[in-house]
Amino acid sequence: MNKIIEADIVVCGGGPAGINAAIAAGRSGAKTVLVERYGFLGGMSTAALVYPWMTFHTTDGKQVIAGIAQEIIDRLMQADASPGHVRDTVGFVHTITPYHPEMYKIVALDMLKEAGVRLLAHSFVDETRLQGDAIESVRLTTKSGKIEVKGRLFIDTTGDADLAYLSGAPCLQGRDGDKRTQPMTMKFRMRGVDLERVKQYMLAHPDEFYKKTPFDELERLPLSGVLGFYKHWKEADLPINRDQVLFFTGPADDEVLVNTTRVQGLDGTDVEHLTEAEDAGRRQVMMVAKFMRDRLPGFEKASISSVGAQIGIRETRRIDGAYALQVDDVVQGRRFSDVIARSGYPIDIHDPSGKGVTAAWVQGDGAYDIPYRCLLPKRITNLLAGGRCISTTHEALATTRLTPSCMATGQAAGTAAGIAIKHGVSPADIDVSELQAELTQAGALLK
Ligand SMILES: Cc1cc2nc3c(=O)[nH]c(=O)nc-3n(C[C@H](O)[C@H](O)[C@H](O)COP(=O)(O)OP(=O)(O)OC[C@H]3O[C@@H](n4cnc5c(N)ncnc54)[C@H](O)[C@@H]3O)c2cc1C
Repeated sequence: MNKIIEADIVVCGGGPAGINAAIAAGRSGAKTVLVERYGFLGGMSTAALVYPWMTFHTTDGKQVIAGIAQEIIDRLMQADASPGHVRDTVGFVHTITPYHPEMYKIVALDMLKEAGVRLLAHSFVDETRLQGDAIESVRLTTKSGKIEVKGRLFIDTTGDADLAYLSGAPCLQGRDGDKRTQPMTMKFRMRGVDLERVKQYMLAHPDEFYKKTPFDELERLPLSGVLGFYKHWKEADLPINRDQVLFFTGPADDEVLVNTTRVQGLDGTDVEHLTEAEDAGRRQVMMVAKFMRDRLPGFEKASISSVGAQIGIRETRRIDGAYALQVDDVVQGRRFSDVIARSGYPIDIHDPSGKGVTAAWVQGDGAYDIPYRCLLPKRITNLLAGGRCISTTHEALATTRLTPSCMATGQAAGTAAGIAIKHGVSPADIDVSELQAELTQAGALLK
């Protein structure tokens, strides 16, 4: 006999979106359970060492994401585990937000407890039970056997749309045509880096770095990120399909997070592909670390301090929802009457098969709206999505996938679920103006 747990709202996936969804749902007063397959929270931010968070601002420096996401930053700052939003010395966006991943795990636990959320860690969702077009329960595989969690509403924050997929809601994957997704990256950290030496080299050789690097301000800005070293990378001729080195500084003073490996052509929902990706990614880490130590000024005494517990997965399945955010919506900074989150992060496509990155910046006031309809899957009536797996095209996902946006759509999904429970209606039937009012009251920026 399975163990049975009952809740109003069941959030599956404890990454940045799921944490915020569960906090919002718990704060609404609904009995909320959060299910996470790992023994810790944070998703890509902790398991895959994704860092820093980018971005809470538009290119002009206007903050467009706040709410629970900002509460998390405030708490991290109080714990001396984040400097807050700092200028991006790569020059790709206006601000980036460094944070200590270990403290993020604790802050998330604290906030979930305060919101009354029951966490089930070490629990993998691998089955859903339906009654008609509604999910009745999810089944978890755990060390203590199968557990069935019954709920009135479910939120899919698995990043991979596992819940939607398992329930038969239509899902999409990758770009139109060949269905290829953005590549995976095994991230790692190095310590013992002389960042002042890196900065001096950049100032002396600006042509070897990204053209948007803010060289005029670099002397006075603390170095937060570096993109380039084109010459060194080309000369090394490593078997990695990328054309530049990318790293960010912190959290320690002599530490960097390297985002340079690239594993292409594999499907992040296929276990054999994932196995191959972990193998390839870890070998690339050793190659890139050696390259950096041997060739890059400032890295002479550096060594690896940590490697992701899993490879970073940029793109897999997404729901095919009531509306799919389009590339034009993003680039034109389109407004929607059912806005539930905004973002100023550009389209940022790491090439599924080539070497480069394709970017397109947001016009208008520098931010675009994410409509509520992007959180509503087709067919299943008591399910919402938040985070990376919301309904977009492949191109638009290349901005909504960024962590602050995932935190914001997660909060919106949790808040919407709380309203649906309160009124006894399905998520598609809630009054969106009530959702917008509650989100605004909770600090979200929708204007
Ligand atoms: C290589 C790489 C670089 C990136 N760079 C940046 C960056 O610099 N800045 C930035 O802001 N963002 C960056 N991103 C994007 C960002 O990290 C992710 O898109 C974001 O974490 C997605 O949040 P999420 O909560 O939707 O999903 P995830 O972070 O993937 O979290 C999903 C959670 O669900 C859990 N889960 C999944 N399936 C199940 C299941 N069946 N049962 C139980 N639990 C499950 C997972 O363990 C995980 O905790 C990067 C991503 C990658 C991969």
